[in-house]
Amino acid sequence: MSHCTNPVELERISDADLRAEARAEWLAGEYRASDHPTAHVHYDLPGQAFTVVARQGGASA
Ligand SMILES: [Zn+2]
Repeated sequence: MSHCTNPVELERISDADLRAEARAEWLAGEYRASDHPTAHVHYDLPGQAFTVVARQGGASA
């Protein structure tokens, strides 16, 4: 999975949730099916959370 610069954060799910990654991936799929075709999951190491993000301004970033 490639990472992008300055993505728009759509959701943030604390790593404290044992199913956080599965939830994040599911949410990313929901976003991809609607308004955010570039939605995907990042892991925010300092924040200890999975984030669902979308690229800013489309796929060119
Ligand atoms: Zn990314």
